[in-house]
Amino acid sequence: MSDESKASTSNFIRQIIDDDLASGKHQRIRTRFPPEPNGYLHIGHAKSIVLNFGIAEDYPGTCNLRFDDTNPAKEEEEFVAAIEEDVQWLGYSWGELRFASNYFEQLYDYAVELIEVGKAFVCDLTPDEVREQRGTLTEPGRESPHRNRSVEENLDLFQRMRAGEFADGSRTLRARIDMASPNINLRDPTLYRIRHGLIHHQTGDAWCIYPMYDYTHPISDALEDITHSLCTLEFEDHRPLYDWVLDNISIDCHPRQIEFSRLNLEYTVMSKRKLTQLVQENCVAGWDDPRMPTIAGLRRRGYTPQSIRQFCELIGVTKSEGTVEMGVLENCIRSHLDAIAPRRMAVLEPLRLVITNYPEGRTEVLQADNHPKDASLGTRELMLTREVFIDRADFREQANKKYKRLVLGGEVRLRNAYVVRCDEAVKDADGNILELRCSYDPETLGQNPVGRKVRGVIHWVSATLGHKAEVRLYDRLFRSANPGRSDDFHSELNPDSLKVVHECVVEPVLNQAQVGERFQFEREGYFCLDNRDSTPERPVFNRIVSLRDSWGRVEAG
Ligand code: ATP
Ligand code: MG
Repeated sequence: MSDESKASTSNFIRQIIDDDLASGKHQRIRTRFPPEPNGYLHIGHAKSIVLNFGIAEDYPGTCNLRFDDTNPAKEEEEFVAAIEEDVQWLGYSWGELRFASNYFEQLYDYAVELIEVGKAFVCDLTPDEVREQRGTLTEPGRESPHRNRSVEENLDLFQRMRAGEFADGSRTLRARIDMASPNINLRDPTLYRIRHGLIHHQTGDAWCIYPMYDYTHPISDALEDITHSLCTLEFEDHRPLYDWVLDNISIDCHPRQIEFSRLNLEYTVMSKRKLTQLVQENCVAGWDDPRMPTIAGLRRRGYTPQSIRQFCELIGVTKSEGTVEMGVLENCIRSHLDAIAPRRMAVLEPLRLVITNYPEGRTEVLQADNHPKDASLGTRELMLTREVFIDRADFREQANKKYKRLVLGGEVRLRNAYVVRCDEAVKDADGNILELRCSYDPETLGQNPVGRKVRGVIHWVSATLGHKAEVRLYDRLFRSANPGRSDDFHSELNPDSLKVVHECVVEPVLNQAQVGERFQFEREGYFCLDNRDSTPERPVFNRIVSLRDSWGRVEAG
């Protein structure tokens, strides 16, 4: 295929595929994304999704969504539905939707084949005994006393395992490979174990024996005619077993397993076990908490699917391990939103400003551009009234010239409106500033005053026509860049990862904001309505990302 038709950048896996197409080994490419439905998808999974579905999109090919559901103890229907939603939200459609459990009958038959040719046996050792006899990197393992059972006895016992005659942990089916192999994965690995009393979300109580991942995965791939089975580096040592399984059963298809490095992201954890812990221990408000690195969390936070896909393209696919800075992900959403987000004004910490020479009761409708660089986003109406709110941080009684905002006796422009001068700061008995009394220059709409220098431009919202809103400001979930090395990672949580600002005021048109719309609140960052907690009476805005990268600065401070 020509380079121009490829939407994505190449990588070592795409080069292998190019070669396989050029040599005629394959005419069509088939990949799969194989999540275990034991949690929500995270940004690491997005890397695998963009790789697998991206290949299917760019080559003549398809990508299946296959649930690796061989461990019913930890899996749930809720996760199946969430994973489907997340893949679709990222903008992909699967060739076929499959479950590894669809193949339980075939997997059983292939196990019988292995027994028949003397390549698998029923072992009566307990899981602990198996582990203990497995050996180490420097010592070979010991052969099971049941390794040389006759084919007939093995067939009988395996059939009775399936029929439910034996208790959990009392027997397993094991491959008969090599207890002295330098690769521990080849030391007679377990293929099936007994699990009674579980209700599988797909197969109910039909089975009491369940196949292991290393046995299930290659056969599932082969049954789906997958050409390239892409997985993360920890499976490199399992590849000989993947190949052994397919070489020893009567199946023609033999997919090629290729490993790539996992995505690690600073200041967060990525393993589903740890993410589950955060949810179950209420460290966050659920799987879709906007601080979570889950796809559902990023969606609720306001990330666009395009920005996540762009991030995955940017980090690329290699075999080298590393940790990506959070700033890389944030830059992707920031640059996307800079291009597409309409501008609005919102005051997070309101300070009343009274324009004393502005007529009481007058409302002036001003037109403002929605975007400074994209006229196609149109304009909106701003309502100027005698009393407005500005941000408390935009006023100081005194400041040096570097302070480009309002000072006593100084002038600033109210964004898209007039220049105002601060004449007086009204205070309470304790010296707290209650309101500012200012005067405006009617000649300064759309033009600069003559002969005076205005310090800067600040944002504002009409005090009478603006809407109250809650704003949620998010920071990193963890204080340390690489948390979760130990199981007690609670002490590494950032106690200030969520700051709720209750009494914000937003400009009138934000009244019509819809879930899914994203805005730049000028000088504050990018925001969207929270899809869970926002109501028409009480809008809640999430800060998606700040206007500038603050990670380095926070680090130094
Ligand atoms: P976890 O340790 O979070 O449970 P997992 O690898 O067990 O991750 P699966 O549901 O089995 O999770 O993963 C589905 C696919 O996504 C696999 O092919 C896996 O290799 C890939 N994947 C998971 N995490 C990452 C990651 N951080 N970076 C890249 N790919 C990942
Ligand atoms: Mg897993």
